[in-house]
Amino acid sequence: MSDIRYSLEKYKGRSTRYNCPKCHQRTFTRYVDHHTNKHLSDNTGRCNRVEKCGYHFTPKMYFEKNGYEADDFNMPVSKPKPISKPPSCIDKKLMLASLTNYHQNNFAIGLTKYFPEHLVLEVLQRYYVGTAKGNKTIFWQVNRLGQVRTGKVMQYNSATLKRVGYINWVHHITKQKDFNLKQVFFGAHLLIDKTRPVAIAEGEKNAIFGALYYPQYNWVAVGSIEMLNVQKLNALVDYQVTLFPDKGKAFVKWSKIATSACFEVYVNTVLENTDLNEGDDIADLVISIKKEKYKVTPEALIEKFNNKNRYFPMLIKKFNLTVEEVSYSVTTCDA
Ligand SMILES: [Zn+2]
Repeated sequence: MSDIRYSLEKYKGRSTRYNCPKCHQRTFTRYVDHHTNKHLSDNTGRCNRVEKCGYHFTPKMYFEKNGYEADDFNMPVSKPKPISKPPSCIDKKLMLASLTNYHQNNFAIGLTKYFPEHLVLEVLQRYYVGTAKGNKTIFWQVNRLGQVRTGKVMQYNSATLKRVGYINWVHHITKQKDFNLKQVFFGAHLLIDKTRPVAIAEGEKNAIFGALYYPQYNWVAVGSIEMLNVQKLNALVDYQVTLFPDKGKAFVKWSKIATSACFEVYVNTVLENTDLNEGDDIADLVISIKKEKYKVTPEALIEKFNNKNRYFPMLIKKFNLTVEEVSYSVTTCDA
């Protein structure tokens, strides 16, 4: 038994997630009392939609509201510390074998709408993004020694590139016994190159969009907004680091963390200075830029005029007109 009496219930399939008391999505993780192996009250837990919902009712808040019971915080004092086990690894062959079949990978399919296919394939392989059963995507977490710590398995809608369904993990799927999980950044294996500046994004998808759009950086993803802290930043003291938080709340939070680091950490402000929505990210930004570009391609212009004036197609035909060049009135949004 661990020293911690109350902790969030580990994910063991859909039945271990509940309806959130606030946003009513089935994204709620409840706290478990490890002395009784029972949940605390229905509403004691945390919503996984950290940004969009943010509900978090801790055991402490629960007891402050409901009063303590005699042994609620009565911990055994002199329990021997468990011997720390080394982190577990996943067989590297499993990872390498997944770096293929991108035509059956919704995320890869979606990316090729915005970037040339050869570039998408190159980036996905370099960042260790694999394909899982059912058109799913695996974002492998590999450390600088090349050890595979785990992989995050997600499903995407190939048309919108939005995530659908639940997150799963390779160490759950492979059912490795006594797996001692120690996560690393997605993209951590690229940090062996200390000369290239590092960009930190919240989500894996954003790291990939970043890698495609701002290739001057080695991109890593921490996983979610609350996974970044000063300790993790300080470990990157030998690098030139720029944070790319999502717009709004995350920008404020990460800017604070950046100023607390032991070295100068830059925070990119491109997203903040757009009119995108709160919570939008680099993927949203790049998609909006690409769509904007499409609007001014010759084909799109002709289409636009066709819709405005029904004689336009006739005119084009009669005088054999072509659109030679269009000036791109698009901000390039360089980092
Ligand atoms: Zn919620």
